[in-house]
Amino acid sequence: MPHPKERRLLLSHADEPGYTGSYEDYTARGGYKTLEAAIRREPAEIKKEVLDANIRGRGGALFPAGRKWGFLDPNSDKPVYLICNADESEPGTFKDRQLIHKDPHQLIEGMMISAYATGTKLAFIYIRGEMFGGARILEEAIEKARANNLVGENILGSGYSCDLIVHRGAGSYICGEETGLIESLEGKRPYPRLKPPFFPAAKGLYMCPTIVNNVETLCQVKHAVELGGKEYAKIGVPNCTGTRIWSLSGHVNNPGYFEVEGGAYTFGDLIYDMGGGLREGRSLLGFIPGGSSTKVIKYDQRYRGKLQDGTEVDWGVEDIPLDCDGCNYFGSSSGSAAVMVMDDTTDVVMALANLNAFYAHESCGQCTPCREGSLWLKKITHRMIAGEAREEDADLLKSIADQVEGRTICAHGEAVAWPVQGFILRFRDEFIDYARRQARERAAREQETTAAVA
Ligand code: SF4
Repeated sequence: MPHPKERRLLLSHADEPGYTGSYEDYTARGGYKTLEAAIRREPAEIKKEVLDANIRGRGGALFPAGRKWGFLDPNSDKPVYLICNADESEPGTFKDRQLIHKDPHQLIEGMMISAYATGTKLAFIYIRGEMFGGARILEEAIEKARANNLVGENILGSGYSCDLIVHRGAGSYICGEETGLIESLEGKRPYPRLKPPFFPAAKGLYMCPTIVNNVETLCQVKHAVELGGKEYAKIGVPNCTGTRIWSLSGHVNNPGYFEVEGGAYTFGDLIYDMGGGLREGRSLLGFIPGGSSTKVIKYDQRYRGKLQDGTEVDWGVEDIPLDCDGCNYFGSSSGSAAVMVMDDTTDVVMALANLNAFYAHESCGQCTPCREGSLWLKKITHRMIAGEAREEDADLLKSIADQVEGRTICAHGEAVAWPVQGFILRFRDEFIDYARRQARERAAREQETTAAVA
């Protein structure tokens, strides 16, 4: 059941008893009425609604969907493609799969509205390879929508036609990067493309104008068009209009997903109220706020100063609002809104070693700083947890991460660097203590061995 602090738009039916997400259930609650109304209007009007709504991309980059659509060249004679990025792979993030499993027709409706507005005749849902169940659900839902003339030729007699295809990836994290995704959809290795010149809105799928939007973003489009962009923008706060779905995991009693009005509550509310608080007798060490590539926030950080709108604040970490930009004041980002909570039992070196292993494994290998740097970072942290930590490792890790950041083709370089920079910045003393403790243990073992031999 939804928590009382939630405001559900996208998940409004998700946990309703008896609701299956079927076509019949969806249409019985007014489903596809927004599409029906939208295709009687001019595409430019729909674009304007989305622009007015100021929906910021929910995949993690937070770029407004309406502005992204605005990059399409109206004078281009090439076909436009729309791709839904359902490659949800950022560790800690599990919101898109809920939307797909619990209400697939909402996504299809949002996609068809978006396709109509952008002039798309062929749209794709690129879904992560491991999400077999989600792919099957979407394929069946699309068939049902096609049978009811909501997808395909001459939709609802409007003269507008657009087909929708589900494409399964092969399970690589880098396919979530939009240009890597496009390469994969073209049947190639998912090597991200250099931007510029390969901004998808200009040179995307098959070198044609392409819009790539996240699952949650496209579902938000449905609600923005239904309410009207300006009305939708009244929900939430200017930097985070509408609602956001937060994936909460880690050392809390009640992990799960929570759809919250933008900026209406704080991380303290999320962790201690919606999330049921920390485990018995434990205290907060920190949390990773927006998927594992975002920088960790430590329990004792504070921000005293002005916000972008000039408001003076004095915030502890529990006061950070659940919006899009609040985490920026703490040197991090709300990214994909995936919050991983760590209590005081957490081994921070082990936690970073785990992240480094992931990002090294998922590097596509095209650029040297990412390919080599991620491997070095992984090797150092693995040596540390294997009992061979050195005091200088903290600075060495930071130095490597600094040399990866900003020197790569795609943002995976930042995903490699940021966790390391965050952990070393916030827990440098703990890393050094860890190395000193291991040095003492090694010395004690050597003494024991020497004594035994003597
Ligand atoms: Fe590949 Fe990493 Fe370069 Fe991105 S940054 S293109 S993942 S090597």
